[in-house]
Amino acid sequence: MAGNWKMFKTPAETIAFFEKFRPLVANSEHCEIVICPPFTNLAAAVDAAKGTHIRVGAQNIAWAKEGAFTGEISGPMIAAVGATYTIVGHSERRQYFGETDETVLKRTQAALEFGLTPIVCVGERLEERESGNTEAVLIGQCQKGIAGLTEQQFAKIVIAYEPVWAIGTGKTATPEIAADAHRTIRAQVRAKFGKEAGDAVRILYGGSVKPDNVKSLMAQPEIDGSLVGGASLDAVSFAGIVNF
Ligand code: PEP
Repeated sequence: MAGNWKMFKTPAETIAFFEKFRPLVANSEHCEIVICPPFTNLAAAVDAAKGTHIRVGAQNIAWAKEGAFTGEISGPMIAAVGATYTIVGHSERRQYFGETDETVLKRTQAALEFGLTPIVCVGERLEERESGNTEAVLIGQCQKGIAGLTEQQFAKIVIAYEPVWAIGTGKTATPEIAADAHRTIRAQVRAKFGKEAGDAVRILYGGSVKPDNVKSLMAQPEIDGSLVGGASLDAVSFAGIVNF
């Protein structure tokens, strides 16, 4: 269960969140918990998560190790503060910051090179779904982004299916719609890396997941976890999702 805090919270608010969240998930050993705050809060989050099984991740990663890339943060920098995950290719980055399948692949490779687990996001926009192109979009994103990895690299990634029309809109994909998309993605993985890799890869669903809809989504065997935006900002609500 991963929380994407987007551009919310200061370091002080991060510490306050963890104080409330830690006891609520102290006995939740059934899943991995990852919180992805803004870069400026990574150190505070890692510190606040010490001694727990909560992991911390970034929301983006540069494809280079270092250099003249103003505004970017690299894998070694993220790893140096103790974060172990990073989101890659979130739809908000694709929509507002020019992220493409090509740069998603480069960032994913950088995450792996520097020992971070990438949570690679794919998903169709509303007009793509309405025009019947969901499958083609997911196949294209998988082929151009994920399938550029070696088998060994692929074994270390997590995929998040996030239909763009469901992110931050309050519109959740029905469990059946989400499971259908997950099947499409898994089929691509099987075709490229074999049955075992297809069975093993963890695919999270993201898009307006809340404590009151998480159970029906997670009841789908195809859905291995959630990537949660808005509802991860509140300790009680994210704990409700973790403890579904
Ligand atoms: C997200 O930011 O990845 C997300 C799924 O947001 P929300 O849960 O707010 O729709």
